Amino acid sequence: LTTAPRRPIRELPDELISQIAAGEVVERPASVVRELVDNALDAGATQVTLRLLAGGVRLISVEDDGQGILRDELPIAFKRHATSKIGNLQDLESVATMGFRGEALAAINSIADCAILSRASGLNDAYLLDGRTGELRPVARGQGTTVEVKELFYSTPARRKFLKTDATELAHCIESVRRHALARPDVGFAIWHEGKLVEQWRRCLDTPLAEATSEAALAALDQRLSDVLGPEFLAQSVRVDWHSKQANEFGQPALRVWGRAGVPDAARSRADQQFCYVNGRFVRDKVLTHAARSAYEDVLHGNRQPVYALYVAMDPTRVDVNVHPTKIEVRFRDSREVHQAVRHAVEDTLAAPRAAAAAGATA
Ligand code: ADP
Ligand code: MG
Repeated sequence: LTTAPRRPIRELPDELISQIAAGEVVERPASVVRELVDNALDAGATQVTLRLLAGGVRLISVEDDGQGILRDELPIAFKRHATSKIGNLQDLESVATMGFRGEALAAINSIADCAILSRASGLNDAYLLDGRTGELRPVARGQGTTVEVKELFYSTPARRKFLKTDATELAHCIESVRRHALARPDVGFAIWHEGKLVEQWRRCLDTPLAEATSEAALAALDQRLSDVLGPEFLAQSVRVDWHSKQANEFGQPALRVWGRAGVPDAARSRADQQFCYVNGRFVRDKVLTHAARSAYEDVLHGNRQPVYALYVAMDPTRVDVNVHPTKIEVRFRDSREVHQAVRHAVEDTLAAPRAAAAAGATA
């Protein structure tokens, strides 16, 4: 019988715990972009500006005009499990913000050189917190927050080696912002790389989309889809607007599915224009993609991939977003109900005369 040499059980240092967490959350620059843009949106930003150097490896800077962070709270923002978004289990069960784990800034700060600059709403002074030294000093800026992340993975060279070319990392960063932008026509986005403006999507709605059931909101969404995915997407797709007959306790439909579904002719060889959102969060979910796919069963053959942007709104207590650290996966309490809803929503849309007309026009 061989026994491994006994080693003492120890509690890991904070820094190492954050670096381990970073391994789950931060795969590449685009993961940092996702977390920082999530934070900007949670802060109520109406404009988000991303600046990158070397595909995000040398610098990722996300600037917003949101509510900002109070001077005394800046050091707490970098701490592990520190969040302003939930306070108890009940909050977690019905979370409506993008973030809630309080992990991202601590994790990113443990594997890169970070700084936060912020001016809280209603105050006249702004501060910069250096994430490495903890130094806090006054700076000048308007309301909002900028988070700067330099030299990503400098301390974890193994991770750094997995990075692809700057162009590839940039493309992933753009894709990350695109996913946010498609859900938020009420927010303007700009992306700069090496001092050049590479993407800009203007704000086209002044109320949050999540609450919007109006024609103005649907029109703004169309505008954003066209800006981000191209006018062809808009021309070759039909509006989806479906809701369940049962009402929730507030008298609203328990489940709502809206967005746009491409006509069969718009299908592509790659599944690169399939966007699904649950309560405003971009998700990759088998239930949703399978439901959408099955709606095209009779009209698409072979490996042709439909295009769509679908938004599902439901009671937050009926979906668990705390399944994966990156929150890209969700679990539905009743996945059959969601599957049927999405399938019906898309099928009804494709069967409507307008879909036939759009297909005819593009044939
Ligand atoms: P989480 O988003 O899960 O709360 P983070 O580590 O991403 O955790 O952020 C920690 C906290 O820092 C947030 O809860 C929020 O209070 C604050 N914060 C981070 N980014 C911003 C921002 N851009 N604007 C305002 N507050 C922010
Ligand atoms: Mg966050």
